[in-house]
Amino acid sequence: MSAAEPLLKSLLDWWRLAGVTSAETDAILAAPVVKQALERDRVPTPTVRKARPVRAQEADETAGIAEARRLAAAADDLPALEAALRAFDGLKDLRRGARGPVFMDGVVGAPVLVIGEAPGREEDEAGKPFVGASGRLLDRMLGSIGFSRTENVALTNVVFWRAAANRPAKPTEIATCFPFVERLITLSKPKLLLLTGGSAAASVLKRDDGIISLHGKQLSAVIPGLTEPLHVMVTLNPANVLRRPQDKRLAWRDLCAFAAWADELSVPRGQEL
Ligand code: URA
Repeated sequence: MSAAEPLLKSLLDWWRLAGVTSAETDAILAAPVVKQALERDRVPTPTVRKARPVRAQEADETAGIAEARRLAAAADDLPALEAALRAFDGLKDLRRGARGPVFMDGVVGAPVLVIGEAPGREEDEAGKPFVGASGRLLDRMLGSIGFSRTENVALTNVVFWRAAANRPAKPTEIATCFPFVERLITLSKPKLLLLTGGSAAASVLKRDDGIISLHGKQLSAVIPGLTEPLHVMVTLNPANVLRRPQDKRLAWRDLCAFAAWADELSVPRGQEL
């Protein structure tokens, strides 16, 4: 359509009202000079591009998430879920850098479930989450508020495989692991979740506010298969606290808030503060 066309049309309508016959207006429209003018300022019709075929990689990712959902949903208990994770064929790029999945550690059915970001080299070697330097710091911090992986805590991560060279996990990798994480939470039925680090918080809470605005607050998450929203607190990942010792104070404050909340909810813990 030409930009001049609506103007010309309304002018001709006005002429018709004024008594100019349609034969005369048609003759005006057909005049070469008018046709040329309309042609000159014709706005090119936007070409509608055909939908790009979904790239093979995107199709793989979608299939990987669907397969993870199917496998996770079929697992009725934690050993079955671990077996499903080991049988999972997706995330080839991520799995290339790992010996195997790092599933969980601690007490099955514990009232507190700590969820971290991803295994590192030592976790990959041991096949257990939080066993490296940051795991030892986490154990000390939890121990100081009466929680331990031998008594009342279970631990896992939002990504189950160590990425080669410890690169950060990609959003699609986190999304693909999530059905297993969600099922692990449902089957563990904890009373309180402690999410350590930004990607754990974003993945479970489905919020992108960032760790600085989320940490230390009483939050909740709706997990399929659990009758009530789950109590959730976010804190800094111990690996980041090791890198930035000045953040220890923030992490410590979060843990104190976590301990107080655990008491409010009658979550049993060991030695008192
Ligand atoms: N080790 C883990 O297993 N997870 C983390 O988030 C950090 C260290």
